[in-house]
Amino acid sequence: MELKKTFAAATMLAGTMTALSFMSAGAAQAQAQGELVMYCGVQEEWCRAMTTAFERETGIKVSMTRKSAGEVYAQVKAEAANPRADIWWGGTGDPHMQAAEEGLTVEYKSPKLGELQDWAVRQWEQSKQRTVGIYSGALGFGYNTDLAKSNNIAEPKCWADLLKAEFKDEVQVADPNSSGTAYTLLATIVQIMGEDKGFEYLKALHKNVNQYTKSGAAPAKAMALGETTAGIAFMHDIVTMVVDKAPVKVVAPCEGTGYEIGSMSLIKGAKNMDNAKKFYDWALTADAQKLGADAKSYQVPSNKSTPIPPQSPKLSDIKLINFDFAKYGSSAERKRLLSKWDNEVKNLP
Ligand code: PLP
Repeated sequence: MELKKTFAAATMLAGTMTALSFMSAGAAQAQAQGELVMYCGVQEEWCRAMTTAFERETGIKVSMTRKSAGEVYAQVKAEAANPRADIWWGGTGDPHMQAAEEGLTVEYKSPKLGELQDWAVRQWEQSKQRTVGIYSGALGFGYNTDLAKSNNIAEPKCWADLLKAEFKDEVQVADPNSSGTAYTLLATIVQIMGEDKGFEYLKALHKNVNQYTKSGAAPAKAMALGETTAGIAFMHDIVTMVVDKAPVKVVAPCEGTGYEIGSMSLIKGAKNMDNAKKFYDWALTADAQKLGADAKSYQVPSNKSTPIPPQSPKLSDIKLINFDFAKYGSSAERKRLLSKWDNEVKNLP
């Protein structure tokens, strides 16, 4: 009996030691392969899926932080003298373009560049090789069909419909200072209507806005939960709610709409630049780009061989404007429009 107990204890101990030695081998591999610090601009679920898959494939330990596009830009700028991050993956292209122009990110020509759609390569060319397109998606809005029905609100089809009195306190959108989505709205409205009429529109919209959120996808979630009737967001972010069976309808605005080129940049002065380049090349592969749809993110991938998820809003069915990424991603224009929005729209009663 005693002998059996001793044997069992010894077996357990041996098992534990084997597990420990496996763990330390794993840790040693991660140690040997080093680390990578990533700022991630897409939805948290997709950020985590990318982190886990890359760690598994390479043994490189990734420290990931999710933030909205404008926030990542501000952080990268604040840390420029002593950068903490190595790579900025995802989020709307405009702040990536601004960072490129301000020399916060560096040139890189990936061997995978030839596998990408033209719009992704154009982003790389326009930024003087400092940022590259990883996905694309159109801006739009959505509405909660249950709330619209119970409040007798007719189906909104156009940007103009969101100004109607019946949407008083019923529209949610993010703050363009923090959110890439909301900056895309600001730049889109100015491009569709012209600057004067565009700001008139944004001031009128302000009367119907119940909250400016920090993150761009938050209004889609609030709409799904019935906290707001309408929400402005990327159409693919609203599709995620529909896939989760929320009573929400996605709208491609009748006047036309803007779109994003989600981007990726290497941080100047990165402490783990070799690993950052490994991630960069890997993130452009067809297989890595499939992870978006698996994490219920339905953007259009930039690798030509990655299948477009069937749930993705069809860009060819949407009236897309000819979005001027060079202009609206330029440092001077982005700063000017944001401060104008702060002064003329945000602080209105
Ligand atoms: N979520 C998804 C899936 C996106 O594609 C993007 C933009 O690239 C965002 C969120 C934007 O986030 P935010 O508006 O918070 O910067």
